[in-house]
Amino acid sequence: MPWKDPNVRRIRQQEYRHRNRERVRATVRKAMRKFRGKKSSEELREEWRVAHQNRRTKNKEHMNAVRRAWYRRNRHKVIGWVLKRKFAIVGFDPDAWQQRFKFYGERCAYCLIQLTKESVTIDHVIPISVGGKGWASNLVPACISCNLAKRAKRILPLWLRKHT
Ligand SMILES: [Zn+2]
Repeated sequence: MPWKDPNVRRIRQQEYRHRNRERVRATVRKAMRKFRGKKSSEELREEWRVAHQNRRTKNKEHMNAVRRAWYRRNRHKVIGWVLKRKFAIVGFDPDAWQQRFKFYGERCAYCLIQLTKESVTIDHVIPISVGGKGWASNLVPACISCNLAKRAKRILPLWLRKHT
């Protein structure tokens, strides 16, 4: 019998749905209304809110993990930005700074490691936090590790200790 063949039955169903498009659509709409009617709009909204929040929390955790991993890998970059920004607030004379950098032999004032324009960080001999300013005389070149190790302590650069 032809209707026992699943392919024939499927084609017949498709034909029926096509011929009765409007009726099928109305049935679906009715079914959806019935389903939705079981829950109040508040319930639906609450469900959506919880789902959305979970998604957001999960995504936040993921994003934080990604960010943390990136910071770990690019620690030197981040430190560089922080120092640069800190420095930009003080405002300084780039020419005077270049002179200072040359004066120190383009080396870290603390450990004397050779530096480049890219790797140098600017250290305030008298830290900003205790009233140090961006005057050229308060600035010394430092490598990132010395700059970090020093932090807000007031230490005379090695070079000055040697020559005074
Ligand atoms: Zn150093």
